[in-house]
Amino acid sequence: MAPILLSAPMQGWALPIDQVPDAVFADRMLGDGVAIDPTGDGLYAPCDATVLTLLDSGHAITLRTAEGAEILIHIGLDTVALGGRGFSPCVAVGDRVVTGAPLIRFDLDLLVREARAVVTPIIVVNPDRFAITQYTTDRQVALGDPLMTIEPVAGIRPDAATGGAVAGDILTRTITVPLAHGIHARPAARLGALAKRYTADVTVTRDANTSSILSPIGLLALGVRYNDSITLDARGPDAADALDAIAALILSGMDEAAPAPAPAPAAASPARAAIDGALLGVTAAPGLAVGKARWFRHAEIDVSEQGQGIAVENERFASAITTLAARLAEQTRHSAGAQKAIVEAHAAMLDDPVLRDGTQSQIAAGRSAGHAWRATIRPLADALRAGSDARLAERADDMLDLERQLLAVLEGVETTVPVFPPETILLADDLLPSDILALDRATVIGLCVARGGPTSHVAILAATIGLPALVAVGPALAPLADGTPVILEASEGLMRVDPDADTLVAAQVRLAQAEMRRADMLARAGELCRMADGTRIEAFANLGSIGDARLARDNGAEGSGLLRTEFLFLERESAPSVAEQTADYQAIADALDGRPLIVRLLDIGGDKPAPYLPMDAEENPALGLRGIRVGLAYPQMLEDQVRAILSVRPTGQCRIMVPMIASLDELRAVRAAVDRIAAELDLPDRVPVGVMIETPAAAVTADLIASEAEFLSVGTNDLTQYTLAMDRGNPAVASGIDGLHPAVLRLIAQTCKGGAVHGRWTGVCGGLASEPLAVPILIGLGVTELSCAPAIIPEIKALVATLGMEACREHATACLACTSAAQVRTLAREFAA
Ligand code: PEP
Ligand code: MG
Repeated sequence: MAPILLSAPMQGWALPIDQVPDAVFADRMLGDGVAIDPTGDGLYAPCDATVLTLLDSGHAITLRTAEGAEILIHIGLDTVALGGRGFSPCVAVGDRVVTGAPLIRFDLDLLVREARAVVTPIIVVNPDRFAITQYTTDRQVALGDPLMTIEPVAGIRPDAATGGAVAGDILTRTITVPLAHGIHARPAARLGALAKRYTADVTVTRDANTSSILSPIGLLALGVRYNDSITLDARGPDAADALDAIAALILSGMDEAAPAPAPAPAAASPARAAIDGALLGVTAAPGLAVGKARWFRHAEIDVSEQGQGIAVENERFASAITTLAARLAEQTRHSAGAQKAIVEAHAAMLDDPVLRDGTQSQIAAGRSAGHAWRATIRPLADALRAGSDARLAERADDMLDLERQLLAVLEGVETTVPVFPPETILLADDLLPSDILALDRATVIGLCVARGGPTSHVAILAATIGLPALVAVGPALAPLADGTPVILEASEGLMRVDPDADTLVAAQVRLAQAEMRRADMLARAGELCRMADGTRIEAFANLGSIGDARLARDNGAEGSGLLRTEFLFLERESAPSVAEQTADYQAIADALDGRPLIVRLLDIGGDKPAPYLPMDAEENPALGLRGIRVGLAYPQMLEDQVRAILSVRPTGQCRIMVPMIASLDELRAVRAAVDRIAAELDLPDRVPVGVMIETPAAAVTADLIASEAEFLSVGTNDLTQYTLAMDRGNPAVASGIDGLHPAVLRLIAQTCKGGAVHGRWTGVCGGLASEPLAVPILIGLGVTELSCAPAIIPEIKALVATLGMEACREHATACLACTSAAQVRTLAREFAA
């Protein structure tokens, strides 16, 4: 038999197998071979062969050559623990591959970050039949370079894999496997090594498949997982002893931890454990930051209980209220979007008669203004915190913020956030919204907060200013000392504490790479958004203020696919006039420099009440009077808004979008109003009116709606909550509310098909359009317009430029067949790899 040449299946540094930092490989428990420390992201066939096994987790593969040599390639060490993350197999068991064919793609960055090592052993696992006669080590190898030569050994046993027959009775034992990752390469090697101490012939059976315990590949091929039941059969003089020893080893857990329990929903138990030197929390604002921890603590402002007389304290109180109200009004003028809304909410709270009356009656009882204010507001905040509603508890922060701000004015205390050194990751038991507004972005690069929640104002503000932030970390944060080096991986919901040098360097490299990518993307953001094959996809932006419009334009937005007009209507005592609305819409249209602007009709009501709308409280606001239902219930308000939109010049820049449509009749009513007002204003052209697809009803009747709507835009935030019957604002179900759920994707597919029947385009303006993992799926389903958060437009455009339509379609079809959002996300990560 001619020698078999194995070429390097990946590029990287080749090293002797005994330098692999794992005894299973270094001690050749699985066989002899060479290892490669990879520098690329693909594994390719080292020779012509057939795929013998490929684990579900995609991290290891075995091949068999025509001559019978069996080769195991194990990408990285302990990578089974990644559960498939970062690996995208290109082949399946039974496939024949030729030298150089792609086998597995892997995410090298992720492995460097999360695996124990990336060094990849390439091993001949039937050394009793094949020996290695030439090795290449201690040098850089390119893909396809000669790596090893193997040759058959003389005098092999007829069936080395099964160990041959041994006479005697068969003893049997059935056990349940407690190994977290089942029987993968490492336990297989240890079991084989143990079994070799006995002469008995031992086999392992799972379902109808059996393997000798001496065959690591046979064991891998059984695919034994955690909690599987397996049967051990032993035959031979020492069968009983062998069986006892092997069963005992498996049942000992083999030092492999049981799998972590499924994560609990965020509100029920925000992840708070400390594992592997990492603190877990809830992502409030995504991103990565590398720096040093510094505590920020509020010192309680001292106030005397006793007042200096009722008149004096009342005067002090009134004057402090005036000062703070003016300060908040000033801040409102200089802020936009979410920031503005939060400051306005504080101003409204300051005006609350409950707080004023409560304080005045305490002053009347002889207390100082400060004591009276605290004694009034604090119990209200505590009651909110103690209640069962997690969102209300988050609002308590706003009360405590106001308590502090007013006390600071009353007592003449400086409330500015202290100055921190550069690259500070700020730790706090609790942060107040005003603290975030006062932070120096030049020095504070991330936040990690013990309390708080993902929808708190602190979280919203952090996301708005692009500050990576983790909340709900819990008491595990407390022992952290000032100056401790930390890596805040906010997107992953964790913070690494005191990382080793390698981890630190890897994070810094990722950060530098991300910054370079971002700069490159920004430089190209002005180009028209096209796929790799030239297909045009519109990259639009979601806007909520003029600041958003400017940012969107600078980031390369080709228009706005959603202007949320609520910002104009909330937190005020009367509806904005037509003139006020026209001025605001005009300013936003101007900021877009003539690019198309899709203005969504008012989407208030329910949990977004406007004080001037006499609406009753509803038990189920999400299912009540909201979206276009409000506009149809208050026709004058609808009419005013349409008139304002149609008054924007140049005519034609604005299109109208109707929120929360459930049936065609609602669209018809809006269309009639638009046509009537357009005629009154003498507009020459028909005004395009499209709809948001946010209810399952609209999605499944998209073909009917598209017969009269100029365009369809899927609001995935609401479509997800209504499809899955999960309140998008309820943290108790936050972990389940995922727009990549196949049910939501099927509705999007149906929407695109329905739109296409009448030649209408379908866009997405919900959060899914801003999710890079979702974008190829949406495009594959037929979406041609993505309306995203302004900040992410350069990234989305760069991503679209790498995609091909055929691949997106195949990927989308595969996602539609998945049974869960988690499965879709796995596919999406593989697609992105
Ligand atoms: C949506 O529901 O996806 C959407 C874009 O609307 P909003 O988030 O404003 O409800
Ligand atoms: Mg919506």
